[in-house]
Amino acid sequence: MAGGEQSGRCSRARFLTRLSVGILASAATAVPASGAEPAAGTASSRPWKGRTISKVKRWDVITIGNLSRNRYWGENDAKGVRSAICTCTVVQGEGFRLIVDPSLANAEEMSKELDRRTGLKPRDITAAFITHEHGDHWFGLAHFSEARWLAAPDVAAALNKTNKLPKSVESATDRLFDDLEIIPTPGHTLSHHSMRFDCEGMSVVLAGDSVPTRDFWRERRGYYNCVDFELSAKTMDRIASLADVVVPGHDNYFLNPLK
Ligand SMILES: [Zn+2]
Repeated sequence: MAGGEQSGRCSRARFLTRLSVGILASAATAVPASGAEPAAGTASSRPWKGRTISKVKRWDVITIGNLSRNRYWGENDAKGVRSAICTCTVVQGEGFRLIVDPSLANAEEMSKELDRRTGLKPRDITAAFITHEHGDHWFGLAHFSEARWLAAPDVAAALNKTNKLPKSVESATDRLFDDLEIIPTPGHTLSHHSMRFDCEGMSVVLAGDSVPTRDFWRERRGYYNCVDFELSAKTMDRIASLADVVVPGHDNYFLNPLK
């Protein structure tokens, strides 16, 4: 969440267009046609939006993020009161082990948290995806030197422009490993992208900072450094239409709808 940089090359109109195209595309995949699922798992008989058939076999939160300032805890937006890390997740499936938003700058700490939550070593990770260019979402990326580094095109360009990474971040669009959807989720930054997939019949959205925490979600409010609050609220509504489980950028995951 550090920094307030945004990519000036992304027009709001362009993202709104991509947003509506994305909604249609995701709706088409999130609600399978009748007969696409086993009878016991039809969308009408289950409470969840997710498909039961998916190449994603498991997902694990590696670090639970926190904010530098949290208005819902009575803290002022004007000043950070603690250092922040983001929520980092590993998604595993057939032929891939993907880490999303590795936050920890310290290699030992990153490795320890990965081991503590999954038993994996950094070299076991085959790909990394970054939701947006704010530093706390990629400070740990360099520890995964053997993985492919991936981000949506404008995010990849912003990261490569920092000259702080030992190799390039590749542009990725639409989908990874067949069943992981890259979805535009603008508002926090204009080029922000999230990841959606099905696992065990539930639709999971790794939202990054398009959803800062559960409290921000409840009010559809962007974080203080959000570049477009109205767009951010629209994006959260869209995530609500897609997700059974929301993994926010700086909080533990929660179910949608909130009870
Ligand atoms: Zn951010």
